[in-house]
Amino acid sequence: MLLGCKSKTDKTEETRLPRIAIAGIGIESSTFSPAQTHEEAFHARIGDSIFSRYPFFNAGTAIRKRAEWVPTLLGKSLPGGIVTREAYESMVKKTLKMLKENGPYDGLFFDLHGAMSVVGLQDAEGNLIKRVREVIGTDVLISTSMDLHGNVTKTLAEHSDLITCYRMAPHEDALESKARAITNMLDRLESGKGKPKFKAWVPVPILLPGEKTSTRIEPGKSLYAKIPAIEQLEGVIDAAIWMGYPWADEARNHGVVVVTGDDKEQVTKAAENLAKAYWDVRKEFEFVAPVATLDESLQLALASEATPYIISDMGDNPTAGGAGDVTWTLRELLNRPEFKSETGPSLIYASIPGPELIAAALKVGLGGKVSAMAGAQVDDRFAPPLKLEGTVTAIREGDRDAKVEVVVKIGSISVIVTDKRKPYHQEADFTDLDLNPRESDIVVVKIGYLVPELYEMRGDWIMALTPGGVDQDLERLGYENIKRPMFPLDKDMKDPDLSARLIKSSNQLN
Ligand SMILES: [Zn+2]
Repeated sequence: MLLGCKSKTDKTEETRLPRIAIAGIGIESSTFSPAQTHEEAFHARIGDSIFSRYPFFNAGTAIRKRAEWVPTLLGKSLPGGIVTREAYESMVKKTLKMLKENGPYDGLFFDLHGAMSVVGLQDAEGNLIKRVREVIGTDVLISTSMDLHGNVTKTLAEHSDLITCYRMAPHEDALESKARAITNMLDRLESGKGKPKFKAWVPVPILLPGEKTSTRIEPGKSLYAKIPAIEQLEGVIDAAIWMGYPWADEARNHGVVVVTGDDKEQVTKAAENLAKAYWDVRKEFEFVAPVATLDESLQLALASEATPYIISDMGDNPTAGGAGDVTWTLRELLNRPEFKSETGPSLIYASIPGPELIAAALKVGLGGKVSAMAGAQVDDRFAPPLKLEGTVTAIREGDRDAKVEVVVKIGSISVIVTDKRKPYHQEADFTDLDLNPRESDIVVVKIGYLVPELYEMRGDWIMALTPGGVDQDLERLGYENIKRPMFPLDKDMKDPDLSARLIKSSNQLN
């Protein structure tokens, strides 16, 4: 079968555009949450509808014109619990079928997150890329693009010819990273250079929560700032640092550095330098904002003049893989005397899933009184479902994630209740519900570090160490499968072997 770009040797194909497939399944999923993720959560796009996920693929853009694109399946889910085997196999089957039917290819843009846990698998992305290789062959250039909170096993590195990840957390450079993965691949195919000659992979035994490794502050900032200069070196194509994902209990969960290029010595040296730089600053990573118990956080917020005082309800952050329906924090808030009266300090709570309450609210309508249960359908380990009794002040239908959103006013607290879980990250998420977070005294949101819009809005901010599937106190999680020793769980561990492992390409494996 004809595979790969033959333009170097075959004169008749000299001017043809490379044929590049697009595929990917992405999620960050916690094995410490009782939640499970099903296929519909991935909102899988098939064929041309995939282009609209990437502004750089709009008709007429430079990237779009450089290849004949073959979009297959792209599934992207909000973070959640472990993916069911049925959901995974179903999406893999569809992907492989489309890849098989539409080949051959010169390249594949493989768009992953990298922290997908699947029932029965220890390296889901490694399993996926191996199966993709079996279909498209080993000559095709695969360029893998990931989140820096993903994990890179040797298998994933072997089958990826180019592999990179974001360089910013929060991920303001997500699209830029994907575009880089694509242009690096296009450059290799157009120049006829093909696969990079060398890939240096260095596992770094560090496992930290994202809330400690933001690139907005040190030492993450300076560590990632080393990358652009490395990328400029002769013989180096790309360099990437993965922080790894701490809320899954798999042997692959740890930091990794990968550098790709054609100059063996530069690639090796660059990877080892980056890995050592990462190891050397390991003890300097701290939470990106003050951290306290919920009680302490509320005392600070109530005493503060700054508004809105944002409190991160961290332990159940759905965007890190929490179930998003833990009621522990909301129960504490509703029990506080300060918020019992309507004239108390205004507080917005975002958010709690509660289909029963949604149904009741739709029945009584805007301004009506409701009394129904909400929360703890998935994760009831820390508190049971809560009865919410109050006035319906907003109803909104049609959100992609939440389906239906309702605001219930209980004392001075406005509780956002959703049909399905949804992260509240944008100002519009609140204003669409007639809530004004800027004028609220306190905003409590299920999130870890604040995304840029909330960060800019904050009067002040504290991260509350609340319980849930993405508990920030990693010692409480009870790992069984991750490699040991691992920093910071094994605080006094010896310096690890940070020499670069040169990884063979898939076409050199047998
Ligand atoms: Zn991430």
